[in-house]
Order: sequence, then C-alpha cells, then structure tokens
Amino acid sequence: ANRWSLSGMNALVTGGTRGIGHAVVEELAGLGAVVHTCSRTETELNKCLLEWEAKGLRVSGSVCDVSFRHQREKVIEVVSALFNGKINILVNNAGISFRKPTVEYTAEEFSTIMSTNFESAYHLSQLAHPLLKTSGAGSIVFISSVAGVVSLGTGSPYAASKAAINQITKNLACEWAKDNIRTNAVAPWYTRTTLVDHLLADKSFLDEIISRTPLRRPGEAEEVSSLVAFLCLPAASYITGQVICVDGGMSVNVLS
Ligand code: NDP
Repeated sequence: ANRWSLSGMNALVTGGTRGIGHAVVEELAGLGAVVHTCSRTETELNKCLLEWEAKGLRVSGSVCDVSFRHQREKVIEVVSALFNGKINILVNNAGISFRKPTVEYTAEEFSTIMSTNFESAYHLSQLAHPLLKTSGAGSIVFISSVAGVVSLGTGSPYAASKAAINQITKNLACEWAKDNIRTNAVAPWYTRTTLVDHLLADKSFLDEIISRTPLRRPGEAEEVSSLVAFLCLPAASYITGQVICVDGGMSVNVLS
C-alpha cells in the first residue's frame, strides 16, 4: 500500500458536519478513503453530503445522536452493512463543551457531558472492534483536548471526559495491538469552530488565549485534521497509544 494514501480504506467519523469533524471528513476522503459520518441535524447533514458529492468526495451519512446507546448500535449496523463488515478507521470526534465552576454543574449536565464525550467514544470503539479487526489494519483516533492534559481553570467535567479518553487511548493501544488496531488521541487547544467562535469573538478572551500561546493565535480545524489523517496512514504504522497536542505550544508554555 502507498504509505501516504488512504485509498482502499473506509472510515467512520462522528460529528462531521461542522468544525474539526468536517475537516477530518474532507481530509480522509481527499486522501482516498470512503467515509461515513453522522450528526444530530438532518438538514445540515444533507447539505454537507451534497457539497461533498459536488467536490467528488465519497461520503455518506446518518442522523445519529452518539449520546444514546441504541443510536450508536444503529450507526455501527449501518456502517457494517455499507462496508461489508470491515472498517479501517474510526474517528471519535463528536463532543460538547460548556465551562463553568465545578460547584455549578447539575447532575444532568455532568452526565450529558460524560455520555456525549466519553461514553460514546468508549462504546463506539467497543462496537467497532470486530470491524476494525476484520479489516486487518485498524486505526482509532479520539479527538481529545488539552483540557484533558492541563487545567484550564473551569469546565472540570469536560476535562475529566477528555482525560478519560486519553487513558483509554493507552489501554486500547495495548489491548488491541494484537488485532493490529492502533489507537491515538489528538488534543487540540482553541480551534476556530462553531463550538468556540462565540468565545473567541470576545476580544479580551481572545487576547488571553493569544498571550498563552507561543504561536500567538488559535488553531484552524485543518491544522487538527492533518494530524488525524497522518495517524491513520500506513506511514504512521508504528505509532500507537499516543496523545498528541495540537496547541501552538500552549501546553508546554509557562511564561512567554
Ligand atoms: P462543533 O460544535 O463545531 O462541531 C461538532 C460536530 O459534532 C457537529 O457536526 C455536531 O453536529 C456534531 N455533534 C455534536 N454532538 C453530537 C452528538 N451528540 N451526536 C452526534 N453528533 C454530534 O465542535 P468542534 O469541531 O469544535 O469539536 C469537535 C471535537 O473537538 C469535540 O470533541 C471537542 O471537544 C474537541 N475540541 C474542540 C476544540 C475547539 O477549540 N474547537 C478544542 C479541543 C477539543 P450536530 O450538532 O448537528 O449534532
């Protein structure tokens, strides 16, 4: 196989209609993969599918809320039928965030963050395991966050959901290496997407982000999707169990 191509491979990317997931869908399909994606919003999903078709990218999609167990089972059934029981790439991207002090989280908010960000990624990986194994060469990429590596002050349930992802990245890498499944996580810092655009629109907040970031700007979704794609390529065949920050240097910076 060509070390720098995904041709002949297929992929499931959760949350591909906006932001980082959208960029990942285009990056993987652009490198030759056949991609299936999902989101909760049918109109937006259909609009994306038409745009991808016009660009010549091979992408299909399902409506699926990954925070519900039954809907996760359903989307894996769809993908299994579509790709003949084999899947090379699973990108667990769909996630939500809202940050506030720990004492202010309700029980419901806590469980929504955990089920959407962590339980969904865990369960989809479990469900995809036989399909990844059957493919002969599988790769899982979790979209984590630097919030799971260092403290950002608020948003502790979100941080915990991402730290849990960082740990299963290591566990699954060791457990499933014998099945030739690699598992890695990509941990972005502020990246311009619909999740955080409203925060970055606040000048004093943006200035604080810039001041903490050696590269002096937030990231772009394409700067995250390039690493996700790299980790899925045959060229990355010896990389597993790693959590890689895409953060303009933020997490290694103390004073600058
Ligand atoms: P966006 O909100 O811009 O996009 C999220 C995508 O996921 C949309 O397609 C959305 O579609 C879909 N989605 C959200 N919830 C669900 C769900 N329950 N089931 C299915 N699909 C869902 O987010 P980003 O691109 O910014 O974030 C993607 C990932 O990157 C997340 O895991 C986030 O935590 C992580 N991240 C982002 C950072 C940033 O600064 N942007 C920084 C660090 C990490 P719909 O709403 O229609 O379902």
